[in-house]
Amino acid sequence: MPDSTIFVAVAVPTPLRNLFHYSLPQDEQVTIGSRVRVPFGPRKLVGVVIELNSKPDIDVTKIKPVLEVLGHGGNLPESVLRLCRWASDYYHHPIGEVVAGALPTILRKGADPQEPTQLLTLTPEGQLIDLQSLGRAHAQRKLLGALQQSGRTREELSAMDISSQSVRAIEKKDWALWRTEVPKPLEPFTGGSVNHAGITVTEEQATAIDAVQQRTDGKPFLLYGVTGSGKTEVYLRVIEPLLASGKQVLILVPEIGLTPQTISRFQDRFDVPITILHSSLTDKQRALGWLRAREGSAGIILGTRSAIFTPLKFPGAIIVDEEHDASYKQQDGFRYSARDLAVLRAGFEGVPVILGSATPSLESLHNADSGKYHLLKLGTRPPGIEPERYELLDTRHLEQKDGLTRALRRQIGERLANAEQVLIFINRRGFSPVMICNECSWIAHCRRCDAKLTYHLSTNTLVCHHCGTISHNIISCQSCRSSHLSPLGLGTQRIEQALTAMFPEFPVLRIDRDSTRRKGSMESFISEINTGEPAILVGTQLLAKGHHFPNVTLVAMLDIDSGFYSADFRATERLGQIILQVGGRSGRADKPGTVTIQTAFATHPLMETLVVNGYFEFASGLLLERKEAALPPFAFHALIRAEANSSTTARSFLESIINKVKVRDSVNLLGPIPALMEKKAGRYRQLLIVASDNRSDLHRELSHIIATTESLPDSKKVRWSVDVDPTDMY
Ligand code: ADP
Ligand code: ZN
Ligand code: ZN
Repeated sequence: MPDSTIFVAVAVPTPLRNLFHYSLPQDEQVTIGSRVRVPFGPRKLVGVVIELNSKPDIDVTKIKPVLEVLGHGGNLPESVLRLCRWASDYYHHPIGEVVAGALPTILRKGADPQEPTQLLTLTPEGQLIDLQSLGRAHAQRKLLGALQQSGRTREELSAMDISSQSVRAIEKKDWALWRTEVPKPLEPFTGGSVNHAGITVTEEQATAIDAVQQRTDGKPFLLYGVTGSGKTEVYLRVIEPLLASGKQVLILVPEIGLTPQTISRFQDRFDVPITILHSSLTDKQRALGWLRAREGSAGIILGTRSAIFTPLKFPGAIIVDEEHDASYKQQDGFRYSARDLAVLRAGFEGVPVILGSATPSLESLHNADSGKYHLLKLGTRPPGIEPERYELLDTRHLEQKDGLTRALRRQIGERLANAEQVLIFINRRGFSPVMICNECSWIAHCRRCDAKLTYHLSTNTLVCHHCGTISHNIISCQSCRSSHLSPLGLGTQRIEQALTAMFPEFPVLRIDRDSTRRKGSMESFISEINTGEPAILVGTQLLAKGHHFPNVTLVAMLDIDSGFYSADFRATERLGQIILQVGGRSGRADKPGTVTIQTAFATHPLMETLVVNGYFEFASGLLLERKEAALPPFAFHALIRAEANSSTTARSFLESIINKVKVRDSVNLLGPIPALMEKKAGRYRQLLIVASDNRSDLHRELSHIIATTESLPDSKKVRWSVDVDPTDMY
């Protein structure tokens, strides 16, 4: 190998933790972030160049050459690579997988998004063909129909099951031909005009907007304000001058399908190109959105968790809306927190970051307390928007019918008679969470999980909500064979049925993951609600995200009590968040809302603090408890999860880690303990908690632990993973 050979270090999509060296053919040129096709064992993989001229520490004669340098149109910019490298270190996840995850699928597979493509397009003659006239030539009819919408690539046609015979047939008739389409170069967007909708900002909003715009240091902003206090308006004002000067804004939201109203706020306000990265995009559309962001031709990029890796040519600001939301944490594979990465990335790019919420996470509040974040508070609502009133109904002394107390049934009736809407919140879908035998009290359990099966009335099935197992024949008790089985407990379907019977003149809309599975169904529910006609909405926490229901004047919350006695130390924090998030959907416009909470914990001090003094005091109390118990955010945690066919295998695997590693005194190894649901989908899960109040010690020891684990003989038999800053113990 000549002395002048250039070596590059490449992130290759494998579970191995290191970079791999390749030599670069003489006539090829790469930069950091170039995609290259490389040999990897018997396979050829697409990797990304991370280092140039790097000195391999292995025998250079064994180094293989890069096979192909892929189109520069798919390069990953250095700013995103920097984020990937940081995340790979921090989350102890293999760099190759992190980098691959940052690329849109088609780029990951090696395609070049800016390469000319061959499109089958209709000729003027083909455009005149009336589809009806084709009679029984179904295949041709389908093909022409598709082409009438737009030209199609060969891949798209085969995905539509259109044969090459059909294509040739219409080519022969001169109805269509292959045309080379060169993608238009992407131009930077220009700042568009603004429509203020006649809103004058309040003093508090003005203070918050100023603080971000006059930013004196690099600290993140935590924007805390009850629902309806005008946080979105603050985002809109902050980004207005940025867009006008050609800067881009990245906005993260919890779940796009659920927030059409938020999206249209941005669309209505600004006349700039907006790229929305949502889950129903095709791979090609996603790659195009990514490119438009990278080339600076989209002004606003709005997306969920994974959008944090979208490149920005002219970064201006990053906003994380509903920063407390659990969906920002990826719960499998590469377990990162998009909220935390947003803070990091904003620091790397030198732009402001705003984390907004009515119910901030304890982590973020703690960061504000300790001076790491600036706290911006919106305490009052804009004029004309009344706060909701909380009322506790103590179920210990009240009789209930289908889970509803008499007082609540009366309240519902009054609101409906008043032509108003009512929202019933119950965080459990299905008809009832338990099917019980009336003779022997046997309860239907999932065979593959530590979980009870939920009864679904509409399909007459028992479903496991954890592994998806469905049983159709529910006829008899598996213990005593009795056929006297009955559903016990409440789910959305049961409440829906009960309310339909109680208030037959009013529509009952059930909104949960089952009823919104179809694309566009959420939108149609929302437009039905927005007609303002009296109705009862029954829903899970899907309803707690980003919606505004001006005519809902009563929110009733049922069956929330498990939040008080869960084994998960985060349960109370989540309970407080959900109560205020759901409660905040009411009381908009001129009609003040009431939130009625049915609970056996009506006199619990936490509950009282929450509804009387509000979230801030509630959260301060919880922070104090966490401090005393040395729990996050006052300590740092990482989990090693082990999963195996038996509980003992998983357990002894973790035990052998504990026996083998020596960790410094500042780090504690706790466990093994069973996961909160030990058996899931037929596998047993055990946890090892690595805890420390010193973050860098934790990370140093975690590296040792991982190295040790990888060297264990069982490490190939037991499925194991690392979770840094875990948010659940499942
Ligand atoms: P949040 O994001 O905190 O829930 P929004 O920004 O959506 O709050 O504001 C709630 C409602 O109040 C919206 O309809 C918004 O248009 C309106 N609003 C916000 N700020 C003002 C203001 N300064 N004056 C009048 N209305 C406002
Ligand atoms: Zn029985
Ligand atoms: Zn199951």
